[in-house]
Amino acid sequence: MLTVTHITKTFHLHGKSAIRDINLTVPEGQFLNLLGPSGCGKSTLLRIIAGLLPANQGEIHWDRPVRLGFVFQHFALFPYLTVLENITFGLRMQHVPIEQQQKIVSELLSEVGLADVAHKYPKELSGGMRQRVGIARALAINPDVLLLDEPFSALDEFTAEKLRALLLEVWER
Ligand code: ADP
Ligand code: MG
Repeated sequence: MLTVTHITKTFHLHGKSAIRDINLTVPEGQFLNLLGPSGCGKSTLLRIIAGLLPANQGEIHWDRPVRLGFVFQHFALFPYLTVLENITFGLRMQHVPIEQQQKIVSELLSEVGLADVAHKYPKELSGGMRQRVGIARALAINPDVLLLDEPFSALDEFTAEKLRALLLEVWER
């Protein structure tokens, strides 16, 4: 489904490469983990795969057009939108009918345990809550591919366990 060939990224001219000659293929339905120490280039590769960052060399190829969901390591929520509005954003952009938007988002809010804070703004939330908004926002658009950048790192163990189970369930579905 995804082929990554010879991806290299250097942030500064003449600088050291953040990632160098990365090659991988990912078949449909696969759950792939990138493991490595902090600073080894995991986020950089994910951002390149998502098309958010240009590579210096190499190519990203999808077998077909895909809808991508992305959960950012540092959340990247819209600060001027409420929890509910953040999660609804992608559906609004896709012009999904309002009633359907409301149904999807209210289900997600309870699945990730955010129903009580639906009308709060990101700055009023804990890190773990923000992370859950990011996860719900990525799931809301029913993505073909989910790119998750350390999605459970800001969560307490109980919440992380719950969201891992949710994620596996979504993946199986
Ligand atoms: P990881 O996610 O594995 O912790 P990153 O992909 O964030 O690693 O970073 C890989 C390397 O690229 C690091 O050395 C980091 O300092 C550097 N880097 C990442 N983003 C930038 C940027 N926007 N500008 C300059 N250097 C960057
Ligand atoms: Mg990272």
